Amino acid sequence: MEKIAILCSGGDVSGMNPALKRFVEYAYVQGLQPYFVFDGYEGLIDNRIHEAHYHDVSGIVSRGGTKIRSARSARFKEASFRAIAAENLKKRGISKLIVLGGDGSFRGMERFHHESGIAFCGIPSTIDNDINGTDYCLGVDTALNIIKNAVDALRDTASSFRRAFVIETMGRNCGYLALVSAITSGAEMCLVPEIPIDYTEYKGCFESQIRNGRDYFIAIVSEALQNTKEVSEWFETELGFESRITLLGHVQRGGNPTVYDRLMAYKFITYAMNGLLEGRTNSVICYNKSHFNFKTIDEVALNPYRLDEELVNLGREQFAPSRCQM
Ligand code: ADP
Repeated sequence: MEKIAILCSGGDVSGMNPALKRFVEYAYVQGLQPYFVFDGYEGLIDNRIHEAHYHDVSGIVSRGGTKIRSARSARFKEASFRAIAAENLKKRGISKLIVLGGDGSFRGMERFHHESGIAFCGIPSTIDNDINGTDYCLGVDTALNIIKNAVDALRDTASSFRRAFVIETMGRNCGYLALVSAITSGAEMCLVPEIPIDYTEYKGCFESQIRNGRDYFIAIVSEALQNTKEVSEWFETELGFESRITLLGHVQRGGNPTVYDRLMAYKFITYAMNGLLEGRTNSVICYNKSHFNFKTIDEVALNPYRLDEELVNLGREQFAPSRCQM
């Protein structure tokens, strides 16, 4: 029986557990023996590789995180440890691997593939949605829904107390989470690296809104800008509005996977496994304009991700300080 393994590398996302469930079920459908590698590349080096069965994945579809855990591994960057990892797979007869991770993980896998001959397919998985070559990364929809719920809850308390809330979202250098969240939750201010705005220019606009009765503000700020505290202080000193900071932090990574992430997990795994069975040896399964397609590691890892121009234009228009809406 041919053998196939799966691992999670880098930051975990909600949607990994549904992916594991589909992986086990579809492997059996295809007549393959599925294996789990625990703790990412660390587990590959330390031989934490176990046969996976139906009962391992029963009941996990609704849980965030990943049952087989994820990890970063400094050792995997060294050829000597990658050789040990390859040996651990080969002695079990495993020649195919699915990797849920980001571009760093795929870069590591490509080296591993060239040295060992082990075939892999990457599935873009990060809430930051910052992988070049794919419109969608697993986990993003769940993260957006968690942010949406948080912002909706904060608006209730903000309006009750006449406060400004400055909400910082994750995303590393990418403003995707902040921008989509700000647009879809009706924020008054959105600060992301892709749309340079001098936030002090909002002063006149916000003052006129206050005169017209506005009694709260919601500002959504990407962690990339590192100015959350500064923005909060600006609300207090320049607008006389009591201000609170909410760092959403790691809550954005957890939680019950949305229907969309569950479905995407199932589709990503199906395509990845089919690709490996068709003989693909080192690719990433990407999602563009409602279609799945395989890309090379260079296509996803060589260039930084750029936000969709249409989304940026929407944000530019919505959050222009000159546009004063109630
Ligand atoms: P992500 O996959 O989310 O981009 P990282 O960049 O932290 O996350 O990469 C995850 C892991 O992938 C690293 O801890 C390391 O083990 C491996 N990795 C990343 N880059 C390389 C590389 N150039 N060579 C070998 N392994 C790498």
